[in-house]
Amino acid sequence: MKKIIIALDGPAGSGKSTTARLVAEKLGYTYVDTGAMYRAITLAALEQNIQLEETPLTELVKTIEVELRQSPKGQRTFLNGVDVSERIRETDVTANVSVVSAISSVRQKMVLLQKRLGESGGIVMDGRDIGTVVFPQAELKVFMVADIRKRAARRYAEMGNTNNSIEDIAALIAQRDILDSTREISPLTKADDAVEIDTSDLTIQQQVEMILQLAEQKISSSC
Ligand code: C5P
Repeated sequence: MKKIIIALDGPAGSGKSTTARLVAEKLGYTYVDTGAMYRAITLAALEQNIQLEETPLTELVKTIEVELRQSPKGQRTFLNGVDVSERIRETDVTANVSVVSAISSVRQKMVLLQKRLGESGGIVMDGRDIGTVVFPQAELKVFMVADIRKRAARRYAEMGNTNNSIEDIAALIAQRDILDSTREISPLTKADDAVEIDTSDLTIQQQVEMILQLAEQKISSSC
């Protein structure tokens, strides 16, 4: 059975990560969350008090190592050998990641790593530019969208104990949407041959089922 590449792109809170993880589990594929990589670089910059500008960030990426490892608990993210999987979800990283991910040298290094991770197929990769830049040849491309209030409500539920209101979270997501989709290099955009799924009124189970059906069609037609 051919092992295909599934590229899942879309804005924050559209349901990509959970869906991608479950689809990968069902197919016995590897799940790669590329946002975690940009978050790890952002954390390194914040920890080292580095200005979030082109030259210092270009120097920084030459000196750090970002690694994704698969574990029974799912993907874990390592920065210079330290597991930062939980730390990179905190608000300071989230608030700054879109500025860091817009820098060309940062993207070049991460895209290279991502291409290597997926070169032999059998991968479900989620991000913003997977179907357009990282794997333009992916057999299946899905672009997930959802109403901003629904996306903010999902993030609010995921965050559990938070001082932020749903409105605060919606404002931060909207700001990230603008930065991610208007940047010069690899902006968040739907590939021409991607299938768009609006997840506003779908359960995770429904999203997983829809993508599995599409994947099965692609797998059987590429045998
Ligand atoms: O997916 P997640 O919300 O964790 O992504 C964090 C940020 O990383 C995004 O807002 C975006 O700025 C950046 N990103 C990117 N390209 C990707 C994945 C994420 O620019 N492929």
